[in-house]
Amino acid sequence: MSIADNIKTLKTQTVPKKVSLVAVSKTKSVAEIQEAYDAGQRLFGENMVQEMVEKQEQLPKDIQWHQIGHLQTNKVKYIAPFISMIESVDSIKLLQEINKQALKNNRVIDCLLQIYIADEETKFGLGFDEAIELLRSDEFAELKNVKIRGLMGIATNTDMEKQIRDEFQELKVFFEGLKQSFFRKEESFNVISMGMSADYELAIEEGSTMIRVGSTIFGGRVIKHWKNN
Ligand SMILES: *Cc1c(COP(=O)(O)O)cnc(C)c1O
Repeated sequence: MSIADNIKTLKTQTVPKKVSLVAVSKTKSVAEIQEAYDAGQRLFGENMVQEMVEKQEQLPKDIQWHQIGHLQTNKVKYIAPFISMIESVDSIKLLQEINKQALKNNRVIDCLLQIYIADEETKFGLGFDEAIELLRSDEFAELKNVKIRGLMGIATNTDMEKQIRDEFQELKVFFEGLKQSFFRKEESFNVISMGMSADYELAIEEGSTMIRVGSTIFGGRVIKHWKNN
């Protein structure tokens, strides 16, 4: 099936209207992204700053770009003018830099806290305690040009459905707890980004409001430079 067919199938058959579909286009070419765009897709996710910036320059300006991979503080300035959402906030230091660059660009940048839920040795994401500590901190209270819209999590890469479900449930429960404790008056704290190609159906059943889907839309990724494919 073509990229356009894959998007159409997802949108009409598998993904409920209330769940946002982020098309993860990392390693994919500008032409492939344009094909998805022409099929009506406007939300795209990338994990490498330079790749996203180069694509952003060449593609329609009404695309909403999401940063989904670990972000180094010294790269924030390159995406701050246009980024729609940074899903991978994993430290107060990063959030402070996003705030600083957002201020320079006279805007407020939507962010998700990336929460570590997998039973794996991954390097990035906040533990539950760390996320609470961040939200309670005086440093966070001072930031006026970032808006925390919700949480993002990546489940363990496993065939064990129960484990994946349990991890998604943990994220959902944690989200509800934070909402009660820190965001009771803020309607805009309403995003739970969980679910990828392998597990988005489970994630939706467990309360996901945003899925990040790459290979189901664009096909598998081989390691080659995006400009040469
Ligand atoms: C690559 C990636 C995805 C998409 O993965 P697929 O399995 O291709 O759907 C989703 N989220 C993050 C954080 C990623 O890095």
